[in-house]
Amino acid sequence: MIKNNIILVKKPKLLFINPHPDDGEAFCANFCIQAIRFGWEVHQVLATCDEYGTPIAEFKGKRIQQIRRSEMLKAANAYGKDLNGNSLVKLHWMNYIDGYVPHNKKAIFRLQKFILKLNPDVIIGPDPFIYMDGHVDHMAVGKNYYFALKWMNPTQRPKKMFFFQSLIPDYFIPIKSSDKKEVKYVKKAHKSQWNSFEIDLLNFFPSFLQLPSRLKKGILEKCEGYRIVSFNNDDHLPRGFAKIIFKFFKDKPIGCEEGRLLPKPEHFELKTDPEGEII
Ligand SMILES: [Zn+2]
Repeated sequence: MIKNNIILVKKPKLLFINPHPDDGEAFCANFCIQAIRFGWEVHQVLATCDEYGTPIAEFKGKRIQQIRRSEMLKAANAYGKDLNGNSLVKLHWMNYIDGYVPHNKKAIFRLQKFILKLNPDVIIGPDPFIYMDGHVDHMAVGKNYYFALKWMNPTQRPKKMFFFQSLIPDYFIPIKSSDKKEVKYVKKAHKSQWNSFEIDLLNFFPSFLQLPSRLKKGILEKCEGYRIVSFNNDDHLPRGFAKIIFKFFKDKPIGCEEGRLLPKPEHFELKTDPEGEII
């Protein structure tokens, strides 16, 4: 676009679809940092606010929700702020409840409507097929994400679509040694989730589990691995080493262990079926 003899280049728009506050930083911090560095417009939409993300009964519900929301805002600010003091990562909330994210047509079309409205160029969401995090919300959000894209008019889909948390990544973004500190810094914003040692483990495990795919492509350097979204069912079957690794994760749902999701959301006056559009 040319305005007053100045060529205006449209910034690419990137959208992360995250089940919980912390997933963006746990799996995609480097991607987010690189996008911001290149001047992209970055958004994260969060399905829940971790309402059952603690074993401590007194903290469940609105108390932990408040803590995790404030940590998510800190994480968004940790990526940087614009000249007006606004975070460079814009947050949006689906307002579902941790452990209770639905996977149905209503939730798929609600997410699809949001994606079409925001119109991102690049989109990233959880891999619900060959995964390394089998949390019930990751499965539901991953399936909603996949079907929201699959049932979209192909001409309206984002130009690039990726899965995070995949055991068979085929797209790699190197983490430069000079960026390792920043990757750790943004993770630290979620301080009620992880201490420094746990952050180091978190930096190690995904890349360790993705090692066979990396070596296959001859990539030795440290990087984040993503899988390009495909709508061919055969592409969603584990293969090679991933077939063995996936046995540790398949059909072992996390986040719904006995007593974890009790007392029920009504006890905390939390609604599991939020009305209205995602904003
Ligand atoms: Zn999560």
